[in-house]
Amino acid sequence: MTKLLFSSPDLRVYLLADSRFMLDGGAMFGVVPKVLWEKLIMPDADNRIPMGTHCLLVQTAEATVLVNTGIGNKYSQEFVERYQIDTSTNLLDALSEIHIQPDAVTHVILTHLHFDHSGWNTCVTANNSLATTFPQARYYVQKAEWETAINPPNSRLRASYLPDNILPIEPQLTLVEGNIQITSEVSVQLTQGHSDGHQIVRIQLPMDYSANKHLQPRTREIVYFSDLIPTTLHLPLPYCMAYDIYPLQTINQKKKLLDNIHDHQALTVFEHEVTHPVAYLKKTGKYFSIDPVTLSDI
Ligand SMILES: [Zn+2]
Repeated sequence: MTKLLFSSPDLRVYLLADSRFMLDGGAMFGVVPKVLWEKLIMPDADNRIPMGTHCLLVQTAEATVLVNTGIGNKYSQEFVERYQIDTSTNLLDALSEIHIQPDAVTHVILTHLHFDHSGWNTCVTANNSLATTFPQARYYVQKAEWETAINPPNSRLRASYLPDNILPIEPQLTLVEGNIQITSEVSVQLTQGHSDGHQIVRIQLPMDYSANKHLQPRTREIVYFSDLIPTTLHLPLPYCMAYDIYPLQTINQKKKLLDNIHDHQALTVFEHEVTHPVAYLKKTGKYFSIDPVTLSDI
């Protein structure tokens, strides 16, 4: 399922959905007790809650930039059942809806290398070997993330990094460090918190956007939070995932970013949100909530 977030003569930004899946609700809300989070989202009988996997496609005159690659399709039946992976939507179908062939993608930006963000980095070929799904693209990853992913220092971290998603991209890899401009519109910002090299993605919009009726008047930017703020339910500062390796960094980064993003009316994208993946921030007192943005299908 593909939606148009922004359109101008020189820039198009799309929201693409890969497969849905389920994660343990307790793990998703860290130290927040279930009696609080279950008022916001009801878990299933196994305490799991639904997760989306939303990627972005940024198209300019010079570049076709994919942000994250979803869950992919290289999993055992046991893995599919554990995470209830529902492949009725997938990234490759979403790209073909907007007539983008995998070999047209020039840049793949990976916010980090956990399995639910890097799945379509690679695919299984007809002769049963692994290949990169986007053969012409450079893959952009923070250096610290790559180093942890290829050599996880302990079993807790190892479970999140699947070598089949990661090792084959090495010949096409561009390592970045810190906050870097990737194209003239797209930049990455290192936040850490969730992982050693977790980065968010920021897309600058041109002044002319008269065709984009869903945007507020001062919007000049789209911010893709990835696992810094995976769903709209994670806006309150202490609502952080147990998967975060440095939760206090996550909290500090959220605190630093949210006021600024709210003040300049950036459009925000929540990668794992099912219901409202695209929204504006609303502030009441010191608390943030959302003003959902409804986008029509392509
Ligand atoms: Zn994730």
